[in-house]
Amino acid sequence: MLDAERLAILTESAKYDVSCSSSGSKRANKQGGLGNASVGGICHSFTPDGRCISLLKILMSNDCQYDCEYCPNRRSADVKRASVTPDEICELVINFYKRNYIEGLFLSSAVFTSPNRTMELLTDTVIKLRKVYNFNGYIHLKGIPHADDALIMRAAKFVDRMSFNIELPSEKSLKLLAPQKTRESLILPMKKLSTALTYDKENKVKKGGVIPAGQTTQMIIGASPESDGQILRLTEALYRKMGLKRVYYSSYIPVVESPKLPTVGAGLLREHRLYQADWLIRFYGFDVSEICDEGENLSPDYDPKCAWAMRNMHLFPIEINTAPLEMLLRVPGIGAKGAYRIINARRFCALDFDNLAKMRIILKRAKHFITCKGKFYGSESGNAVKAALMLDGIKETREQLSMFSCSSVALSALSGEI
Ligand code: SF4
Repeated sequence: MLDAERLAILTESAKYDVSCSSSGSKRANKQGGLGNASVGGICHSFTPDGRCISLLKILMSNDCQYDCEYCPNRRSADVKRASVTPDEICELVINFYKRNYIEGLFLSSAVFTSPNRTMELLTDTVIKLRKVYNFNGYIHLKGIPHADDALIMRAAKFVDRMSFNIELPSEKSLKLLAPQKTRESLILPMKKLSTALTYDKENKVKKGGVIPAGQTTQMIIGASPESDGQILRLTEALYRKMGLKRVYYSSYIPVVESPKLPTVGAGLLREHRLYQADWLIRFYGFDVSEICDEGENLSPDYDPKCAWAMRNMHLFPIEINTAPLEMLLRVPGIGAKGAYRIINARRFCALDFDNLAKMRIILKRAKHFITCKGKFYGSESGNAVKAALMLDGIKETREQLSMFSCSSVALSALSGEI
């Protein structure tokens, strides 16, 4: 039976993995209050049909043989250690599921004993859950670097999603901060999974196929000196060459002291800008070279789409009733959904500003870049446009940390509409 102390240690140790949208909140419970957003345990994920589901987020062990400089669970850290068995995890998942606490499992582990033994136990757990406990809920499994391919591919047949954390944006930083891991030990299993996914897709394999929800990865931002331009080039390669579903960015937080690490965190604004650029690459048809030069960082003052539009004012304004989809997607204030709504609606009538407002286009941004039936309501002066967008950017900087406000910024963080 899994006791409360081990459960607390292993859920707390898992909380720095950001592959779910609820990670990172610091709001603790107050005396007499209900709920506590800062403790680990339950995280949330989104299914392909947009539902938000609760997952038990836990490590099988935090007793790590590796010594990654930035990690609170590393070998040399002075923290309480705990481990659980596959059966203990299975029973916990089933009990929580029956009580309606969770709908799925996010299972990871520190590397205890050896990579193969760790991967073997993780694989045993998911196979038991599926075959012995008949559990058909969602499972996201973290892969263990340096584990045998055969073990990884076996686990991939029983889980919905798998991820290997790429950890740091360059091999040099990986050598410095996570010396036991190599770039190959992280990239090669991702490539294998990607090949298997492509095979399943081409051969229409459903039953017995691998990871139907695809693979994701996570990168720590700001623990090492790579620029946003370098990070985004790696991101683009992971999406285009490996077909990853998501790249998660985890802004570095100095939870351990080390002369090799910065003493201040990277800040959530940098992480937010990277997510915005990530959406541009995935859904708006941008190449990374249009967003940011290799050695540069994204502007903190403007979102990356506004920054691109201001560098390319000669392409605007565009007429909303005739512009191609590719250009509509590049207008600040018109999100991907908005661009498709415009394309559909204008088949029936010519659109004006009132129509756009009803489609939730953010006109205070978009008006500087569009005409409607030939009319232009924006500012002619590039400086005035810059000032207006910068004000918006400052507001965003202040608001972007709140997931709970009703502002358009909070909505954009969830929906990626920029
Ligand atoms: S492998 Fe590295 S990052 Fe993972 S738990 Fe161990 S020390 Fe932490």
